[in-house]
Amino acid sequence: MTRILVTNDDGIGAPGLAALVEALTRVGRVAVVAPDRQQSAVGHALTVSEPLRAFAMPWEGTELCYAVNGTPADCVKLAVSVLLPWRPDVVLSGINHGRNTAVNILYSGTVSAATEAALLGIPAIAISLDTYAMEADFRAAAAIAVRLVELLPQLQLPERTLLNVNVPAIPAEHIRGVRVTHQGRSLWRDWYERRQDPWGREYFWLAGEYELCDSDPDADDVALVQGYISITPIRFELTDTATAQRLKGILEPMQRDVPATSVEGDGAAPEHQSARL
Ligand code: MN
Repeated sequence: MTRILVTNDDGIGAPGLAALVEALTRVGRVAVVAPDRQQSAVGHALTVSEPLRAFAMPWEGTELCYAVNGTPADCVKLAVSVLLPWRPDVVLSGINHGRNTAVNILYSGTVSAATEAALLGIPAIAISLDTYAMEADFRAAAAIAVRLVELLPQLQLPERTLLNVNVPAIPAEHIRGVRVTHQGRSLWRDWYERRQDPWGREYFWLAGEYELCDSDPDADDVALVQGYISITPIRFELTDTATAQRLKGILEPMQRDVPATSVEGDGAAPEHQSARL
């Protein structure tokens, strides 16, 4: 049976996590290692200056479950290296409350947990439902997660490539299908709301409006608003290779024009400096 690690960024008590775990325990051996509190928009942060603690909890149908006082990426790292008795065949992150498309991928703790798994060489799927409604129905998203786990061997994802899945928040029978998409260019137009606490002290709260910036039907947000499940294979290769190639001709010759740096003492360049400087 497939060994599945499940995590999220909305915290161990989130209804999306419960729906995902419930569905996956029917098709695999499930371990849950998730943050002990809300960790949305923490991106790929790791805890490096506080102790990390993992609290074992009972969760029916799972092999083990821990709440961790850290980030989603902490949870995956800690689970794989310390907490789990086995190496997972797949890591699922979600089901997130709210879409993780376009620029949101960068901020998302949900996607970062899956990215961490991919960096560790484990196939990974991030899954999000396009709503913030408290009464959200996660069943269609949980069902697609199960299907993807079953299909995974067939997909032959390259190492370090993960699937970013976004599900429209409409009744399952209205979902028009699946579209394989690319990361879109939609953006938040955001601002800070200025508020006052009960003591009259000012505080700020990030708010904003999401602006759809694509029209291409294969852009993740467009597929989603058109009623499709959006599945984007993503990888974290951030280099702009075309620009790097072009800049080689401009920036690399610059090194020859830089005057030799004088160094305190005998003036000899330290060994680690390039001889050409
Ligand atoms: Mn979240």
